[in-house]
Amino acid sequence: MFEKILIANRGEIALRVLRACRELGIKTVAVHSEADIEAKYVKLADESVCIGPASSTLSYLNVPAIISAAEVTDSEAIHPGYGFLSENADFAERVEQSGFVFIGPRADTIRLMGDKVSAKDAMKAANVPCVPGSEGALPEDPKEIVKIGRAVGYPVIIKAAGGGGGRGMRVVHTEAALLNAVTTTRAEAQAAFSNPVVYMEKYLENPRHVEIQIMADQHGGAVYLGERDCSMQRRHQKVIEEAPAPGIDRKLIAKIGERCAEACRKIGYRGAGTFEFLYENGEFYFIEMNTRVQVEHPVSELITGVDIVQAQIRVAAGEKLWIRQRDIEFRGHSIECRINAEDPFKFTPSPGKITNWHTPGGPGIRVDSHVYNGYTVPPHYDSMIGKLISYGDTREQAIRRMRIALSEMAVEGIKTNIPLHQELMQDANFVRGGTSIHYLEHKLADRSEVNKG
Ligand code: ADP
Repeated sequence: MFEKILIANRGEIALRVLRACRELGIKTVAVHSEADIEAKYVKLADESVCIGPASSTLSYLNVPAIISAAEVTDSEAIHPGYGFLSENADFAERVEQSGFVFIGPRADTIRLMGDKVSAKDAMKAANVPCVPGSEGALPEDPKEIVKIGRAVGYPVIIKAAGGGGGRGMRVVHTEAALLNAVTTTRAEAQAAFSNPVVYMEKYLENPRHVEIQIMADQHGGAVYLGERDCSMQRRHQKVIEEAPAPGIDRKLIAKIGERCAEACRKIGYRGAGTFEFLYENGEFYFIEMNTRVQVEHPVSELITGVDIVQAQIRVAAGEKLWIRQRDIEFRGHSIECRINAEDPFKFTPSPGKITNWHTPGGPGIRVDSHVYNGYTVPPHYDSMIGKLISYGDTREQAIRRMRIALSEMAVEGIKTNIPLHQELMQDANFVRGGTSIHYLEHKLADRSEVNKG
């Protein structure tokens, strides 16, 4: 096992990794920007290194600063968390070339999965079902593009191979709009991702977002840790996640989970990973893979009893998977509400000093947050300040516990989206389960109509 790990991230995930290290008896190095200098989790680490000013380009994305922090502290491995450099293949390569272990997949795996066209090709080859669409990238010839559009059938979606964060996508409803849409998306993709390659998919009109969590070792072993339903989204950002996904046949989950685990063995995947799917009319369609730990990993931890962050560290240290698929039991139900520092109606960020912070507790409640009384939410980063996670024997119990937890939680001094979560926990369609990826947007649109009226 490693003696010392550098945590190349901030906020709740930095604290989450720190706790995992402490439990494993590993020393920690927290790197931080000037804006995070006062954060208490930084002081909990055995050592800390300031890697630059507040702007993340100059700190949390500053590769040379992070590598030299690892050097001066004699760290053995680097945990990238999520976001920032976690899916940057060049960073993973630099880390390993500098003699440290990157806690994640090999750089070439990150590169393969980072390009959505090559990721889909690899998944097709591994028998993972994909959204029907163009065979790889769209060609230059307009006649060929029109032909592909007809074969796929409208509506279609044009997507950038290098896209991410919900950007670089355009829905096309008619053949007349197709060529223009392709040209525009190509230009945007070139500008945003320095990669003009685009591809075409059938646009699914009412799908759910269901993803499979996997864990793989460096010796050809891989298991799946069940699925998560992350359909409650606003602007392609997840708001609520849960496991298991309500109302989906367990046999179908087992089949798709096994395919994902098999795909990992096939491509020599190592570490934690997530296969994202759209689910519609009883079918799964792969859209992309995330080669890192996800924000919503706790709901899978609660229903499987597997500590995903510790598992990442153990497999990175070379351990063989100690869990077999047949030993993994899916028990109960778990829901996560992302708590954001933002206006619950207008969604504008609300950074600033938290004058009162009171977190809920009791059976089946977990709070993952780095925040405390008097903490100042900096304006420079993502607005998520913590995650409230509930667990129950049944989905009904997990919802009831979440309602109570939300009512106990107090955050003063800044605005949060807690009122939105309270509303959603009472929403008849959410309570029924199985809403689509468009549900929240439609609900919010209706809400603002009512407010206007
Ligand atoms: P990103 O990497 O930018 O998150 P994804 O490929 O994961 O891009 O897609 C993001 C979201 O866009 C999905 O969760 C879904 O809401 C929507 N989307 C993507 N592809 C399709 C599709 N073929 N049909 C319908 N919606 C889609």
